[in-house]
Amino acid sequence: MKKEINTYNPYNGDKLETYTLNSNEDLINKLKLADNTQKDWKALEISKRIKLLQNLANEIDKNKDELSELITKEMGKPLLESKAEIEKCNLLIDFYTINADQFLQDDIIETEAHESFISYDPLGCILAVMPWNYPFWQVFRFAIPTLTAGNVGLLKHASNVTGCAIAIEKLFLNAGFPEGCFQTLVTDHNGIETIIENDIVKAVSLTGSEKAGRKIAELAGKNLKPSLLELGGNNACIILKDADLRKHMDTIVKARMQNSGQSCIAAKRFIVVEELYDEFIKQFKSKVEDLNYGNPLYETTTMSCLAREDLAKILEEQVNKSIDLGAKVLIGNQRDSAYYQPTILTNVTAEMPVFKEETFGPVAAIIKVKDEDEAYKSASQSKFGLGTMVFTSNYDAASKRISEIEDGAFFINEMVKSDPRLPFGGTKISGYGRELSKEGMLAFVNKKTIYIN
Ligand code: NDP
Repeated sequence: MKKEINTYNPYNGDKLETYTLNSNEDLINKLKLADNTQKDWKALEISKRIKLLQNLANEIDKNKDELSELITKEMGKPLLESKAEIEKCNLLIDFYTINADQFLQDDIIETEAHESFISYDPLGCILAVMPWNYPFWQVFRFAIPTLTAGNVGLLKHASNVTGCAIAIEKLFLNAGFPEGCFQTLVTDHNGIETIIENDIVKAVSLTGSEKAGRKIAELAGKNLKPSLLELGGNNACIILKDADLRKHMDTIVKARMQNSGQSCIAAKRFIVVEELYDEFIKQFKSKVEDLNYGNPLYETTTMSCLAREDLAKILEEQVNKSIDLGAKVLIGNQRDSAYYQPTILTNVTAEMPVFKEETFGPVAAIIKVKDEDEAYKSASQSKFGLGTMVFTSNYDAASKRISEIEDGAFFINEMVKSDPRLPFGGTKISGYGRELSKEGMLAFVNKKTIYIN
């Protein structure tokens, strides 16, 4: 069995660190500590829990440059995007600092009883299994509402961002959160099985691939524990004939290419009506060609390597299989280790991997359609359900489509993006449950019915 995790800089292959895996005894001790801490933590006044959030924001601010560099070194994200990710964590903290108290207030429900209401109690110790693509944001999006609601958290982060996982635990401790409130587990898939089976763990949250989601949901189900799954996406970006391309093209390119294309809510299938097709291709290609590839640590870099070489190889394979089925390469499709060139594929049809599967990298699949009806039909032809976006000047017509979209989100003239104020999550094989907003705060609470006669 593997006893250590090595991390590497995906841009140049340099080894970064070696981490020893927690022993079984370490894991059990962490669970016990979590359990003991939670008893006092949930009894602490909410105002005191909220106060610690501001300390945490200060710690993050103080260490912003160092944390951003760590993200970039471990998973290859351009430095400016790492900084933006860190800043977004503080926006999230501010949001819950202002709203947590109100979100957790009892909800009075009038009945014939003298008093009846719902009270929101924490569930206990919650396990988070998190991915590498937004190594801080994904963790904070789970941890801030979950901990503020009175739970404690255990993090099993993606192994290639173990340094980030340890840095996050340190931030919580330095901010004054009690020991055991947020702990990082340095463990592998077997360790996670043991953890989920343990009675101390009350629920699981996972962000990651469909495969990991199925496994974690199976383990949680077997142990009768609730799970929240935020899995992959294959978002359609519909371009209608009245879209204002000049105004929105930067957003459209960003929707696919930010984080070097490694985002679950990225636009992956561009469904373009034929009237605007040539103009779309011309403008889109020109902007994609303007992306500046280079060392992710340079602030001028806007496109870099993927987080691991194996991920770049998977992407290349998806593209090559699509080419075999008739897709045409407009630009790109060159790989060098973990770097995969931004790629635009045209002539894409529904049976190709780039249409059916999630492509986790800078690949834009372009589908030409006759009209609006065909565009929406093609968009919904997916087993994923994270989000759909449409670019059009006809808001009324787009609004009439709201009930037709089966996804967790529908964005008009904007890329699908997460926002602390709005619920976030998917349908179909993109998972279930909602993070962020009030929904995220109530994801891991016991909604207890109180009836006083
Ligand atoms: P995974 O889904 O395998 O990894 C995500 C997290 O789940 C990691 O912490 C991983 O740990 C953990 N994990 C995976 N399998 C298990 C298991 N059986 N038991 C316990 N923990 C598990 O993502 P990959 O890194 O392999 O990326 C593959 C693909 O997944 C991408 O190409 C993309 O399509 C999709 N993905 C989607 C994301 C999203 O935001 N929705 C994020 C990341 C990936 P470990 O690192 O130790 O394997």
